[in-house]
Amino acid sequence: MRELVVATKNAGKMKEIREILSGYALKITSLADYPDIPDIVEDGKTFAQNAYKKATVVARYTRKLTMGEDSGLEVKALNGQPGIFSARFSGKQATDKKNNLKLLRELRGVPWEQRDARYQCFIALADGSHKVSPQTCQILSGNCRGKIAFRSQGKNGFGYDPLFFVPEYNTTFGVLDPAIKDKISHRAKALKKVKTFLQEYSPCL
Ligand code: IMP
Repeated sequence: MRELVVATKNAGKMKEIREILSGYALKITSLADYPDIPDIVEDGKTFAQNAYKKATVVARYTRKLTMGEDSGLEVKALNGQPGIFSARFSGKQATDKKNNLKLLRELRGVPWEQRDARYQCFIALADGSHKVSPQTCQILSGNCRGKIAFRSQGKNGFGYDPLFFVPEYNTTFGVLDPAIKDKISHRAKALKKVKTFLQEYSPCL
């Protein structure tokens, strides 16, 4: 079975990626399986640049088909912040809890109509098994629109999910059944494109 290395240590992301790609003939591994690979500095200016860097750097180490995923939350009232800084929104010692508290603070006094937000997910695929340097075969993306709730609700998901209100379901990703998130999320949409890409192009990978 072909191995797909996912260049992340984020357990929340990995759980979703494994679930969404389940049933697909791939042995999915992550950086937890490659502990010797040094941390990757995310110094890109866009999600796509960070995804590209994660995929290509890790593909060079593993010599395997590798997926780099960079994602985050963009809040309209904050001019698109935290964006690529979503994981580190509250600083170097950031945690999901601290990030959520900071987001609520920044949006204090902002009315419901102005609390629009979207999750973005960019995925880069690089194949380290090529003899020449790793080639990024494709960059794929997905997004998911919602609103930032006035208070945290639910424990499902990770990151900003307890604050991310999904109008179609009238609740947050924190409350919503994870199986539903895995069908409608930014990550689900990007991974759907990954599946199609791998099906169509696997002979050349
Ligand atoms: P990355 O690991 O640099 O891509 O940062 C991703 C960050 O974006 C996470 O740490 C979360 O803060 C946020 N994020 C991305 N996707 C999600 C999601 O599906 N739910 C909640 N937060 C997310």
